[in-house]
Order: sequence, then structure tokens, then C-alpha cells
Amino acid sequence: MEIGVKKTVFTPKAIIHQKFGNKACYKVEEVKEESAQNGCPGLAIPQKGPSLFRCRLELPEFTVVSDKCKKKKDAEQSAADLALKMILILFDYVRRLSCSLDNTVAYREAILGNNPTDENPSEKDPCDALIARIKYLFTDEFLSSFHPMSGHLRAALQRKGGLYGLIPASVIAACDAKTSNLCKLLNPEVESKPFLALSLIMRAIPRLSGFVVTSKGQLSIQKQNPYPTEIIESSDIQQCSTDSILVKAIQIPASLEETIQPVTLDISSSGYYLDVIAQKLGVTDASKVLLSRYDMRTIGKASSETRVYFAASESLVMELLSDHANVKDFHVKGLLNARASYFCGQEIYGDAIMASVGYTWRSKELFHEDVSLQSYYRMLISKIPSGNYKLSREAILAAELPSVFTTKANWRGSFPREILCTFCRQHQLSEPIFSTRSIPLKASCKLPRSQKKLKVTEAAELATEYTNGGSLNAGDGESVGLESSFRCEVKVFSKGQDLIIECSPKEIYKKQSDAIQSASLQVLTWLNAYFKDLGMPLEKLNCSADAFDISLTSENFLKEFALCQSLHKVKQCGDQGSKLLESKSTNMEYTLSGQDVCLPNIEGSFSGVCPSSGSLLCISYSVSLVTEGGHTKELIESKDEFEFEIGNGTVVTTLEGVVTQMSVGQCAHFNMNLPPHEFILAAVDDPARIVSFLEYHVTLLRVTEPSEERMEQALFSPPLSKQRVEYAVQHIKKSSATTLVDFGCGSGSLLDSLLDYPTSLEKIVGADLSQKSLSRAAKILHTKLSAKSDAGIKSAILYHGSITEFDPRLCGFDIGTCLEVIEHMEEEQACLFGDIALSYFRPKVLIVSTPNYEYNVILQRSSPTTQEEDPDEKSPLQSCKFRNHDHKFEWTREQFNHWASNLAERHHYSVEFSGVGGSGDVEPGFASQIAVFKQESQLDDDDLPTQENSSQHCKVIWEWNCDDRSVPSSN
Ligand code: SAH
Ligand code: MG
Repeated sequence: MEIGVKKTVFTPKAIIHQKFGNKACYKVEEVKEESAQNGCPGLAIPQKGPSLFRCRLELPEFTVVSDKCKKKKDAEQSAADLALKMILILFDYVRRLSCSLDNTVAYREAILGNNPTDENPSEKDPCDALIARIKYLFTDEFLSSFHPMSGHLRAALQRKGGLYGLIPASVIAACDAKTSNLCKLLNPEVESKPFLALSLIMRAIPRLSGFVVTSKGQLSIQKQNPYPTEIIESSDIQQCSTDSILVKAIQIPASLEETIQPVTLDISSSGYYLDVIAQKLGVTDASKVLLSRYDMRTIGKASSETRVYFAASESLVMELLSDHANVKDFHVKGLLNARASYFCGQEIYGDAIMASVGYTWRSKELFHEDVSLQSYYRMLISKIPSGNYKLSREAILAAELPSVFTTKANWRGSFPREILCTFCRQHQLSEPIFSTRSIPLKASCKLPRSQKKLKVTEAAELATEYTNGGSLNAGDGESVGLESSFRCEVKVFSKGQDLIIECSPKEIYKKQSDAIQSASLQVLTWLNAYFKDLGMPLEKLNCSADAFDISLTSENFLKEFALCQSLHKVKQCGDQGSKLLESKSTNMEYTLSGQDVCLPNIEGSFSGVCPSSGSLLCISYSVSLVTEGGHTKELIESKDEFEFEIGNGTVVTTLEGVVTQMSVGQCAHFNMNLPPHEFILAAVDDPARIVSFLEYHVTLLRVTEPSEERMEQALFSPPLSKQRVEYAVQHIKKSSATTLVDFGCGSGSLLDSLLDYPTSLEKIVGADLSQKSLSRAAKILHTKLSAKSDAGIKSAILYHGSITEFDPRLCGFDIGTCLEVIEHMEEEQACLFGDIALSYFRPKVLIVSTPNYEYNVILQRSSPTTQEEDPDEKSPLQSCKFRNHDHKFEWTREQFNHWASNLAERHHYSVEFSGVGGSGDVEPGFASQIAVFKQESQLDDDDLPTQENSSQHCKVIWEWNCDDRSVPSSN
């Protein structure tokens, strides 16, 4: 069975926003659904009818309505996704029809339904629409509007004799989204070739004669007649101050041999900033400056005005000016600027300047912001998966893309799926496609249990279940069920929809979303490795992909990443820096290994609270560059609080190695070799500085222990929970019990697992306080029992109620279990339960398990680096925490013995002690201690204490009978 196959994920909304800005209007409405029973007949817990949402997305050209979704934001995304699909269909259709678009309206109606929009009839034909648009841009009305384009017009009017509003034609395509979209309709190639938009605009001008004209010999446009003076006066176009403004920008030479240089643009409100850029590019005036169309918001932290500027070559200008310029025949002379093109995803020729200057929607003033070398390198590293992760954590020098995905709760920074989608967008690839497949439990059991990832995830799943109080849907709307597990396949496509990467991990996950995250991480990890070694020969490339369960369409893949290849060459040959930098350029690992390891200097007293594998730590740190000789130190990165999970490589290994030797409250400082120079330059803004090493200062602030189940899972094989079940099964077999009650059954892990064993049981009952856990248990048991017709179980009941109160229906069972429950109550309640269980409920056998506090020292100090220390030396009883935040107490063996022995004696039971996890003969005993109480003699009815007014306080939550399947309960 396939679930959610081909689910395109991640934010279509972001793309819509990029294309339409605030012209995209989302309206979400709530749709009430009738209550459903969630596929579990007989479940007596009122299941709230889910609130569903539908979103209507209104775009300038059309409106779409999403399907019903569980969450508002999903509805919005779904609408956005729908809109994107519409746009694609439209584009494709329009492209095929070229300019004869008479059918468009009919077609649009056909696919969008009868959706009357108040559209301008001229928009039927993009050619006409383009002309109308350009004309509009030169109207008096437009001049006074807030628009990136009107800023250019006002700037023109401020110049001496500039009453005609002379502006470069390239500005129109670059600054007016509507023009740019129309150009795209006319020729989709405009998307990647900015000069094509320019040619479309130039060709449109003759059709505007009388109103708008080109300026002779220039790629500029102006009005035929001057703007009326009243308009000029009323559009607050006054002479502003002539103060010069210095804006930092970056020069990106076309030749890969030349390095990126910082440049300063001296702009002032009296001049025209594009003239300043023209001068830096070595051309006479702004009309020869071409602008990359994209704003580069998606790249690093670039502001929306960051663009790449380059000069039109002499021959290009000639061709654009000639009347019969045929778009297809352009010969763009000049060297492709690989670096600039790589950034903006368009073809950029010759030397280029990257700057963040321009008019915006927000103000009539010219916006400007420095683009430093640092920002350039930040954009560069954000294009590799690990760089993107580092930026999302604002920790360029501290974070690494983790090697394993454990839980959402433990993951810090952008999630793998998100990073992968960003990566695809930044490299102009189509959105990746995630297909999840559910695997029946039986099949998944056959997989080697020793697979590390599988184990981690199972543990992670349990942890999540636990902390959510066994909630049914961990807030994600994903199907959770112990009956099935998930496997996810990821496909990455080129812009032209060719398959380039297909990743089919073997690992299975209990949660669909974990499977997706993990598969995404696998793709990212491989891509990361690829980026570290771009020169890899094909054979090695395929081989490395294989190791990540990836199959590559290498031809397509290499085509898509051709620009990265040329950037790689820059790194190899173009480096000005020290030998040190060069020697590092192919090796992105900047950890000290082997003999290089420096001993960290750890200060402060040992508090005994140490990180172990799986724990979440919080550190504060600072990193400084130390110049050669140690004379000067420059702080380049520091954070007061930085959280990460230990054991999956989230931070550079040196840092992880150091913190695992520390205890909370201690600080350490140590030195580290330099990371690759992009990372250094992304953190520090001075490439000229010759540096020799990094100095780290780290303080360990907090350690959050991994949750109980996760530790149990990580340290015991089979997991402790399973061992507890097996223990119970032994006793069932020994006593040939036919009835069982599980006190504090939670989400039914024991009852569920029991059904996997052939036993004598005929009736199973569970009781718990948590409705959430019980509904989960009900669903699991329902599925399992309905599937097994041959099982011996004749009836199953789940009660909601406290096990510390009497209820006659819990009395007289052959066997009672109470696993890992008492520590969740206050101590006196636990004692009360003991008394009630043995005096009233009186099962023939009662098995009670609870954590052995003395064992915590092992669980909590299980990290390899701290294992050799002798636990006895550290007075563990004072330093260890409970295994779970919900535990009210955890007893030592002595405390447990005392409780159980007294209890047994009072109620004519015998008691034996045992346990699971570890060994009873070796200190500090079992991990989970177990008491098995056995009824010594059957009491006469008269001897049984009577329960006055015995009320049935428990509520039947769910009931199942074999002959009369799924009878809804009546209570
Ligand atoms: N026995 C299960 C669950 C252990 S978690 C297992 O081994 O997986 C502890 C459970 O005890 C929780 O589900 C909690 O709701 C339940 N619990 C705590 N106090 C209770 C009480 N007074 N009556 C019934 N259940 C209780
Ligand atoms: Mg517990």
C-alpha cells in the first residue's frame, strides 16, 4: 500500500510570494466536519470532529481554492501549490501558442472554471499587454506611485534637462515584475537570459510611437513629450542634498583567475546610481548596464535589492538597437561570468558588480545596503547543504550538518527537507518529490535489528510518543501506527524535469515525517560530500552515490552542476592567500585528527553532570581568529546559547570531543585549525589577514538527558520495554493465565505486544488515566485484533480511571501487570495502589516494575569518553537525575524491596525480586527492577474486605469481543 505518494512538499507559498509579493491574497475559511471515529469502532472517547480549513488564493490573474486541510497553513500551502501548477500549465500553453493567444481566455476558463476576473481585455495578448504596461509606466499617474520603477523615473526628472523621464530599458524589465512576467510569457528563456527581456522591450517601443521613444543610439527609453511641470512639482521631486553616500559592493571578475574584490560606490541623491555602476563596469552610461532580474532574497541573507549588474557588450548593444533583431540569433560576446551566473541563476557576461542599491516599494528614497566580501561568502556557503544548515543556525564555525536524523525535537536549525528544497531552489532545480511507502510491520521485523539508524529512530519514536503523552498524531497529521513503518524515496529533478537524483534509503521509520527528513538528510549528506570534492571522476561519483542509496543520472546531474564545477576551479587555482588556505581548499573537514589533537584546557570544578550520547547540550562559545604569532586576536563568532545533540556530528568533531569531556558549569579553551577559506571569509571580513588558527572558548551550560526510552533503546538489546514484555509472557505461560489486567497500560505497548505471542490468554484488560494514551491503545488493539481471526483472545476492554481507586471490574484476574507506572505517582499513591491491588483486585500474580535508581549512573554516563570513570567514586546518588521528567520518584533496590516485602506480608502474598536490563548479580543491579507477587492462599469470600458502595468508577473506553466484533460500548 502506498500512502501519500508523490507528495510535493515544502513551501509553494514562498515561491508565490517571490513572484507576486503582496499581490497574493490568502483567505482561509474554516469548514466543520462531522465527527468521525478515526477508524476505531467502539471507541467511547468523544472524538472531536476535526476542524478543517480551505484556502482561497487570489492572484492578479486568477484565483484558486485549496482542498480541505487540517491546518490553516497547510491549506495555504495547498492553494499556493495549486496556483503554481496553474501557472506552469498556462506558461506551457502560452509558449506553444506563441503570440496568437486568442484562445487563452477560453482555455483559462476551461482549466480554472468559470472564474470571472476583472481583467483588462488587452491582457489577452502578452504582446499587447506588454505595450500597454510600458505605456502605463510612463503615465503621470504612475510617476507618483510607490514603485521600484517610478523611483528611476523620478531620479531622471531630477537631472538637468531630464524632463522626459529618460531611463535605461533594462530597468523596466528588472524592476517591474509585471513587465518581467509578460516577457517571460513571450519567451520563457528570459528567465535565464536578462538581455532577452531587454530585446523584447526594445522591440515593443516602436509600437508606442507618439508616446514613448527610444533615445538615439542608447538602450534607453523616454517619453516623447516632457512630463507636465505641475506633475513634476507635485511628485515631491525636489533637489535633495548632494551629500555623497558610500555603498560597499563586490566586483566579480569574469575571469576565474581574478579574485573577488570589494568596491565602493559613491552615490548621491543628485546623481543616478546606475551611472556610478556603469562607470565601475567601464561603460559610458547607465543604458548599457544590465541587471539580473532575480532578487536574491533566497540566497543567504541578501536583501531583496541585491542584484548583479553587468555591461552590455558593444555588439550586443548594436544588435539590440537594430530593428530586426531576432532573439534567437544573439551573439553575446564576452566571457560567461561563472560566479555571478551561479549566484543569480541567469547568464551574466563579463565583469560584474553585486550591489544592494535600488528603489523599493517602501519609500521614495534610494535604498542601499553594503554588500561586503563577508556577505558574498555567506551567499556562497549557503549554496552548499552544510553551509545552509550553518547559516540557519547562525553558527558558521560551530555547526555541521548532522549525520543522522533522530527526532524533530532534538534537531536544531532548518530541517533537512527544508534545506533540500532551498538547495534545489537555489540551484534552479524543480522542487524535489518525496514518496513515502508504508511497510507492513511483519516485513520490517525481518530487517536486521542492528541497523544503527533504525534503532535510533525507533528510540526516537518512542521518545516522541512518550513526551507527547502518547498522543495519536504527533501534531503532524501523519499516520502513526505500530502496524506499519515508512520508507521514503526522494527524487530531484532538473529545471527541465529530468530526473537527476533518486535516493531510496533502506531504513524504515515509524513516522512518515521522520522517513522524509531522514531521506532528505541522506541526499544532503551526499551532495555535501560532492561539493567537497567537485572534481570527482565519474566512477567515483557513482560509487559514492551508491553508498548513500542514491542513483544518479550522471549526465543530467553534471549538466546542472556545471557552474559549481567552474567555481571549484577558482578555489584550486585562484587563491591569493596563504599556503595554509590552499592546502585546505579541497578538504572541508577542519577537525584536528590523530596526532594533531590539542588537549583542551578545562577549567572549573567537576559538577558530575556530563553529556552522554543522545543528550541535548547547551553551550556558550566564542571563536577568535588568532593571527600568526598570536599577536592579535579577532572575535569572529560568539553565541550565548547554542544547543545541539551529542553523538550525531552536529558540531565539528573537535568541539564535540571537547564538550564530552566537560561537566556542566565548566569552561574550556582550545585551538583549532582553519576551516576552508569560504567559511573563514563568511565569518570575517578581511581576506588580506593571514591567519594561523582559531581559538575556541566554550562553557557547558546545560545538559538535557535523552529521555528514558531513548536511553533504554540505545543501551539495551532487545530494548528494555521488549524485555519487560517478554518477562510478562514467561509468567503468563508458567501460570497458564487466561485473564490479564494491565494497570497503567498507557498506549497499550504491553497488550499490543502480548498479541504477538501465542499464549493462553482469553481476556485482556487495560486501565489508565490518560485518555490520549487509551485512544491510541484502542486503535492499535483494534487493528491487530481485527486482523487476527485465529487468536485466542475473546475479549479486550480498556478502562479510563485511576488504578488507585476500587472498581469491581478489575478484580480477580489471573495475572496483573503494572509496568513502569508507580514512579509516575506520588509515593503515597503508589503505596495506596499496592494496598488496593493486593487487598481488593487480588490478581493471582502481580508483576510490578519500576526503574532502579542506582542504575541511572550507568544510563546517564554512558558516553564513551566518560565510561572509564568509576561510578562509585562520584557519590552517584546525589548527582543522578531521574530518567524521565514525569517521574515522581525512583527507588533504589532497597527502597523497592522494603515497599514490596511489607506489602506482600500484609496481604498474604509472596514476593520475589528480579529485573530486566543488566544483571541482578552485578552492581548496580538490574536497570528495571521487578517484583512478582503471588497469592499464597485463596481467601474465603468472607475474608475479603468488602467495598461499601462499590461504584464502577472506571469508564469503558473501548471494548472488543471476538464473536461480536467491534460492538460499540454502552456505559
Ligand atoms: N505501562 C505502560 C505505560 C507506562 S507510563 C508501559 O509500560 O508502556 C505510565 C502510565 O501510568 C501513564 O500512561 C499514566 O497515564 C499512567 N498512570 C499514572 N498514574 C495513574 C493512575 N493513578 N491510574 C492509572 N494510570 C496511571
Ligand atoms: Mg516511567
